[in-house]
Amino acid sequence: MTTRPSTETGSMDPSTDTPVSTEQAGRFARSSVTGAKGRHVSVENLDAYYGEQHAVKSFTIEYEPNKVTAMIGPSGSGKSTMVRCINRMHEEIPGARVTGKITIDGEDLYHPSVDVTAVRHAAGMVFQKPNPFPTMSIYDNVAAGPRLTGMKGGNLKERVEKSLRGAALWDEVKDRLNQPGIGLSGGQQQRLCIARTLAVEPEVILMDEPCSALDPIATLRIEELIDELKQRYTIVIVTHNMQQAARVADSTAFMLDGELIEVGPTERIFTKPNDERTEQYVSGKFG
Ligand code: ADP
Ligand code: MG
Repeated sequence: MTTRPSTETGSMDPSTDTPVSTEQAGRFARSSVTGAKGRHVSVENLDAYYGEQHAVKSFTIEYEPNKVTAMIGPSGSGKSTMVRCINRMHEEIPGARVTGKITIDGEDLYHPSVDVTAVRHAAGMVFQKPNPFPTMSIYDNVAAGPRLTGMKGGNLKERVEKSLRGAALWDEVKDRLNQPGIGLSGGQQQRLCIARTLAVEPEVILMDEPCSALDPIATLRIEELIDELKQRYTIVIVTHNMQQAARVADSTAFMLDGELIEVGPTERIFTKPNDERTEQYVSGKFG
């Protein structure tokens, strides 16, 4: 079996140890004038492979600014692969490759001149299992990203507080910032991870089943937070929870076998989908 190497995109260090130069970060950085607005993410004819395995097929979608889009579909339908292409994590897997185009406000994320670290900052990812840096304090977890760009002193403190406030965690942790991040509850850890993402000033927030390891109360808290965050960001959330999609998402996209079957206003997808397969999935007939 032959697999084509992912040379077009290069092989990148998955750690974020490389500081982003101002110029590179500037490529996707939000303008201070329009700071409150989310960005438009456009995916055009995206194909993603693991070796011969074709996991995402001719995928085209528009993620609207300041909206939440839910990605639903059975396990293995390509949801995670798809969102990992948006922050260029897919190409880290040996044998994996991507073709097609993804832009943020028209800027091509896969252009050869683009710094991968800048893309990962622009499109922050929150994972299923909260993954705070295990040896770091609450403060350092949030400060880690900004520190890589050289931020320190009062600016750094401000950024940490702002990010924790943005993640609706500040009031719960402000008196114990020096304690370990992993000492927090699961729901708090997930909000800490969201704060860590906010600290590098992303344009887009990608969430891959962010609540599946959380209890219902912590889940509700994250859902409320998502609702607040969309005032400032464009949000893509993978979920296998139909109620969650119905509660948080403006639009819902249904994937099956690597393909986008349909996307539309959440209410329509759940009540009057155009495709029979969507109807069968949302009514629990398979999945
Ligand atoms: P979902 O998130 O919808 O469950 P995934 O994007 O994880 O789907 O997977 C899509 C397809 O790609 C599946 O067939 C899966 O087995 C395959 N896949 C996912 N990750 C890998 C990997 N690291 N190596 C090889 N195949 C993978
Ligand atoms: Mg997945």
